[in-house]
Amino acid sequence: MTHCGRCHCGAIRYEASGAPRHVALCHCTDCRRSSGAPMVAWAAFAESDVTVTQGNPKTVNSSGAAMRSFCADCGTGLFYRNAEMLPDIVDIQSATLNTPMNFPPSRDSRDNDQPPARNSAYWYRRQRRPEYSSCTATKSAVLTP
Ligand SMILES: [Zn+2]
Ligand SMILES: [Zn+2]
Repeated sequence: MTHCGRCHCGAIRYEASGAPRHVALCHCTDCRRSSGAPMVAWAAFAESDVTVTQGNPKTVNSSGAAMRSFCADCGTGLFYRNAEMLPDIVDIQSATLNTPMNFPPSRDSRDNDQPPARNSAYWYRRQRRPEYSSCTATKSAVLTP
């Protein structure tokens, strides 16, 4: 099965085939800062199963051996590679896949120096917060258990 994805502006499109090795939510400082979001969902595919079909992502070294690829036009983060920690793997930001709901995260990852009680994964899971029916709804917040 082939999974298609793209950046927000559509300049970069890619395909991934087969099933991901795993899907993880990463809460590390590197992912948080580079995405501007509290966590990033990653679907890990074999390098040989991922093909960029349009455009050329820009790639930067974000820390250590970590290489992050994104659309230089719209800024959408797309891929993560780390030859030391994850050889032969392309981590795809699963929210850029056309069907991200088909890739539910099965694990959380965080910085080793974050104590568990203050770790963002822990914090985000335990907060009670309003749920909105859409990003434009501002007045009909409903608290869910
Ligand atoms: Zn783009
Ligand atoms: Zn991370």
